[in-house]
Amino acid sequence: MMDAALFHSDLMIAYCGNPLDRAENCRGDEDWLLKACQKGRFLAVRSGKVAVHGGMPPTLFYSTYAQMAPLIEAQADCVFLGVQQDQTPLFAVRCPKEWELPTDAIQASRPLLFLDGRSLAMQLSSPAHDQGITGIVAQALAILSWHARHRFCARCSSTTVARRGGYQRYCEACNSEHYPRTDPVAIMVPVRGDFCLLGRQPTFPPGMYSALAGFVESGESLELRCAVKCMKKPGS
Ligand SMILES: [Zn+2]
Repeated sequence: MMDAALFHSDLMIAYCGNPLDRAENCRGDEDWLLKACQKGRFLAVRSGKVAVHGGMPPTLFYSTYAQMAPLIEAQADCVFLGVQQDQTPLFAVRCPKEWELPTDAIQASRPLLFLDGRSLAMQLSSPAHDQGITGIVAQALAILSWHARHRFCARCSSTTVARRGGYQRYCEACNSEHYPRTDPVAIMVPVRGDFCLLGRQPTFPPGMYSALAGFVESGESLELRCAVKCMKKPGS
């Protein structure tokens, strides 16, 4: 059993605490989505990175519908993430590599830049920071990555189209629905007394160690994965 003392107030678990109401009951309503889009905020995602105001701590940069309309009308991937606590709809849009952040939104004191999820989590690792940002960014990057990799039907290879605010792809050729893939994983830190077990890959830079982690296979329990992961390979 994990030492409860590890879960002290200085520990933050990245990508948790997403505060958005995903409004599942509204996703299938195209009229509602259109109105939400026109009054919504937009996260700009480019090459797997999200636009943020730099500095410590970084904060999310929200584009307006007017700024994103050219991309949306050009059929850029646009997904509805959910509704923020102030009832503002939040979307994420994939921007082409050559796309630049709006010049009228760039503030010299808070430079705008694109940051990957891990770097953002590292910079928001204190409980004093907004715990929900990394969860929102994880959602945005994951769903846009799924769209980029699943444009064609797995049954008939026809081109699929996004539906339900980006949480479904539909094949009009064979009438099949496709949903975002979820890969469960387990991550663990075995502890004994004041010691814990970490690991490292040959590709890690010198001095870098990490918790142990692995994907969970179909029908495999998380508890079994944790136990097996901590054992030596058979024959070694
Ligand atoms: Zn198909």
